[in-house]
Order: sequence, then C-alpha cells, then structure tokens
Amino acid sequence: MEKENLFFEQGPYRPPSEAYSLLIRVTRNCPWNRCEFCPAYKGSKFQFRTVEEIKREIQLIKEAVEEIRATIDDQREAGFNEKTVNILSNNYFPENLLGIASWLSRGGDRVFLQDADSLVMDTDGLVEILRFIKKNFPKVKRITSYARSRTILRKDIKELELLCRAGLSRLHIGLESGYDPLLKMMKKGITAKGHIEAGRMVREAGISLSEYVLLGLGGEEMSREHAEKTASVLNKIDPDYIRIRTLMVRKNTPLYSRMEEGAFNVLGEDSIIEEERILLENLDGIGSHLVSDHIRNLLGELEGDFPEDKKKVLAIIDRYRGLSPDEKLNFRLGRRAHIYQSLDNFFLPHLFGQVEKIRRHLISQGGVERVEEEIISLMSGVG
Ligand code: SF4
Repeated sequence: MEKENLFFEQGPYRPPSEAYSLLIRVTRNCPWNRCEFCPAYKGSKFQFRTVEEIKREIQLIKEAVEEIRATIDDQREAGFNEKTVNILSNNYFPENLLGIASWLSRGGDRVFLQDADSLVMDTDGLVEILRFIKKNFPKVKRITSYARSRTILRKDIKELELLCRAGLSRLHIGLESGYDPLLKMMKKGITAKGHIEAGRMVREAGISLSEYVLLGLGGEEMSREHAEKTASVLNKIDPDYIRIRTLMVRKNTPLYSRMEEGAFNVLGEDSIIEEERILLENLDGIGSHLVSDHIRNLLGELEGDFPEDKKKVLAIIDRYRGLSPDEKLNFRLGRRAHIYQSLDNFFLPHLFGQVEKIRRHLISQGGVERVEEEIISLMSGVG
C-alpha cells in the first residue's frame, strides 16, 4: 500500500464531545445552509457522496489500521497508547495516518459521521454505511452524527429504528431556540412543534439525543422569550443531553449585516448569564445531562444531571452574579485569555493577580471599553 498517498476526506466540524472519534464524511457541507447566524458552510455547496465512495474510504481506513499495527509490531511496542503515536510521529509517519493512530490510541471505538445533516441520506444507504463500519471495525461501540429536526421528520419511526439497530447511537441536533418568532427570524426552517416531534421520535427509536441551545440568539429584544420557550421545548423532549453554546456573530453571516444595520442588538455577557439562568431555572421534569463544553461559554463548568444537579448549576451562576462589576470584568478577561478554566480559578490569588495586572493595564490605556475590546478580540479567535 502507498501509505503516503492515502487520502481520507475530512469535513471541517465535529462536536467537542467527538474529539476522540474517527471522522467519516458521508455528505459534504449543509443541505439547508440558510440559518442567519451560522457561518459554518456559507459559500460551500452541499453534495452527497455515494455509498460506494464512502465504503471505499472505510476500506482504506481499515488498511491503514493494519499498516499502523504492523509498524508498531516492527517496533515491538507493547500495547497502543499516546506513546506509540509519538513514536510514529518521530518516524515521519504520514499525517493522514497519524489521525487514525491517534484514534486507535484512544480506544478506536467511536465514529462520528460528518457533515451537517447525515440523515439527509436515504435510509438504506445510511444503514449500509453503518453496517459496513461495524463489520470492518468490530470494536466500534458508538456511531454519532449531526442531524436537523426537519430532516428527521421526513423519516418514519421504523426508519429511525432501523438506523438505531444498524449502529447509529446518537444524534446531535441544533435546537438553538424553542421560540417560534426567533426560529423564523433566524431561518432555522423548523418550528418549536417540529423540534419537539423530531426529538421525541429520535428518543422513541432508541437513539440517544443531544440538543444544542444557542445562548444570546434572541439578542436584547427576545432574550427572555428565547430562554423560557427553549426550556419549555426541552421539557417536552426530555433529551439525553442538553448542550449549551453561546452566539458569536461572525462576519460572513446574514446576522452580521442585520447587526450592522442596527436591527439586531447583541446581548452582553452578563445578560447572557441572566438568560442562561432563566433557561436552567425553567427546566423541569426532565432527566437530561447538561453540558457546557464549548470554549465560548463563559461558565464552562455548568454540568450535571437534571433534576438533582439543578440547584448546583444555578448556585454557580449566582456565584458569578454576586461578583462586583470589576470582578466580573476580571473573570471575563481571564476566562477569554485562557487563564481561568472555571470560576473556582478566579478565587486563586495568584491567577486573580495575574489577570488583574492585565485588566489594570488595559484600563490605563482606554478604560473599561479597552478591556471589552480585548475580550471581543480574544473571543473572535475562538471557533
Ligand atoms: S442547519 Fe446547522 S449547519 Fe446548516 S446552516 Fe443551520 S446551523 Fe448551520
């Protein structure tokens, strides 16, 4: 095998929770691509890939796995871990194979299907791909993908059950909001009712469900309704996971133009925390696991099982709300500069002192506005 020439196509995105998954691209880009806030695939045309093409690639990955194992045997390395990946790297092992080696070193048991909406494939084709993955990589225990609620509604429950039996373990859905006027304004292409129906179908079919909420999406104008209605939709779906994201208005989006025209007012970080509190306070009667695992979330440590951890996560929010304006500014700056990982870090004197020095320097240059500018600049460099 010409290992230097092996080429595995990769899409640009995966959820943070799929960092250790093998990425298999089953479609290219987003078949909808109209959401006003989303920069992900703007300017890129959606394309299906054929089942044959995808299977050929899975076959190549399998050959690569064998190649890697043979190389490791040559080195007489016991086991397979990060150390072996380093050995391969030091031996100028080709980049494309290092990704697969790294996947193997993390257990080699998870796969993520890219890009934005894999369920847009016809069910038989997707079932064939899932079975082919399982056949070639018997160790794989989890296969997940992004999907849109609207696409799910085009399938019936039997098709979803078939996908589940073929190995589809989890779907990540961009709920974003449960407030209809906001979903319409952002051209999400679905209503709250549609989100509820699709989410319930996924769960009924036995597929684990992860719903993504986008804080700040309603701007100043719709913040409260966004939080309350989103909680109400989540209460009706009762997903396995609720994942929090925070809006960042990117230049290549229609929402940016709307903001420039003054028709959308971005919510400040403290107001986003208020919105988050309303959302979490209104979650009721569900057994979801809450995750805030995106770097843009100000309070990344908001994690726990509902209902038992609801008080705990609200207490973290209230701890932040109890800070003085200067302390909040210090925390936001430190978090965006990656000095603080969590609010607990803020209370460590050496870290607080380090951030405070930067904050005071920026204040001396141009007051609070200069600090805010710096925070925005630090945030815009983040995914
Ligand atoms: S469906 Fe998802 S990927 Fe596609 S435009 Fe909307 S948010 Fe972006």
